[in-house]
Amino acid sequence: MKTYRIATIPGDGIGKEVIPAGQQALAALAAATRAFSFDFERFDWGADYYRAHGVMMPDDGLGALRGKDAILFGSAGDPGVPDHVTLWGLRLKICQGLDQYANVRPTRILPGITTPLRHCAPGDLDWVIVRENSEGEYSGVGGRVHQGYPLEVATDLSILTRVGVERIMRFAFRLAQSRPRKHLTVVTKSNAQRHAMVLWDEIARQVSQEFPDVVWDKELVDAATARMVNRPASLDTIVATNLHADILSDLAAALAGSLGIAPTGNIDPERRNPSMFEPIHGSAFDIMGKGLANPIGTFWSAVMMLEHLGEIQAAGRMMRAIETVTADPALHTRDLGGSATTAQVTDAVCALIEQAPVAAA
Ligand code: NAD
Ligand code: MN
Repeated sequence: MKTYRIATIPGDGIGKEVIPAGQQALAALAAATRAFSFDFERFDWGADYYRAHGVMMPDDGLGALRGKDAILFGSAGDPGVPDHVTLWGLRLKICQGLDQYANVRPTRILPGITTPLRHCAPGDLDWVIVRENSEGEYSGVGGRVHQGYPLEVATDLSILTRVGVERIMRFAFRLAQSRPRKHLTVVTKSNAQRHAMVLWDEIARQVSQEFPDVVWDKELVDAATARMVNRPASLDTIVATNLHADILSDLAAALAGSLGIAPTGNIDPERRNPSMFEPIHGSAFDIMGKGLANPIGTFWSAVMMLEHLGEIQAAGRMMRAIETVTADPALHTRDLGGSATTAQVTDAVCALIEQAPVAAA
């Protein structure tokens, strides 16, 4: 029987609540299917670690992750530590250090969930956003000098490289090709940003020639927000730079009902390193420690992790349990207008996983 070595990094805030919930659901799945098992190792990195050691994770932390099959991540962010310290010290350090250059964010309206869009049938919104995850606006290149003086200057340089753009475009076209509609929208801003974004457009056109069966179009990022709201069914797979996709995917999550549901994977498509799966939400200071966090985003991230590991049947079993739970308003957490707790939702998903008929081998 295959044993998957999974690193769990709960991090901060509600990450400490939803990651144990995700682990509980995965353990229930392994017990029910008896097809594989998990060897979880928890890494208590984050703001508490920072307060004790002055860093968000130890220097040799990446080495400890490299031997794993996948990583399940909660959130980094603490009311007492600046956000750029928590983000760069942990999540971005892992994404960049393990070169997880493709961030993948599926968005659908799950059964029982209401979209704020008035004229949108559930099937109209079925997107996967591919976010360039290694460079662009979040390259980390820049600096700040003469702090506090009138001549103070600060820069954040947006860097695009031919290698970086080619690999994310190829990944996005391949993903679009694998979906029924075979449609890709390339988000850009090459009207205003006339160097790097023009390169981005040029490489999109070049790579498209390798995928003659994929229909693709180009949309400026500002127009893309309006299109997501007004014509959701016109979109399928979407590729955008780090910053653009960061913003578009929070909009996508809100349109699909709640930030608490949305999952993501930070993928190394070449599988040189483990990939990392996480709910897209943050630490949620307003509800942390209260047992109110919606664990669905973590469960759906666990489904993405199972798919990445090749456990397609088990992933389907977990996704069906998730959709049965979201269909029941009595099991909605507060972000969905309900009053269920993290524990109630988790127990319900685990019970459904255990009850599901065993699929024929
Ligand atoms: P947030 O996602 O933490 O919260 C935004 C709102 O959504 C809050 O009202 C929160 O209660 C609600 N919410 C989010 N997830 C929820 C869930 N699972 N269940 C119920 N409600 C949920 O975003 P923010 O307030 O912008 O950021 C708070 C902190 O988290 C900051 O320090 C930020 O840097 C960090 N953050 C980290 C990540 C990450 O690690 N991937 C992502 C986003 C924000
Ligand atoms: Mn974000």
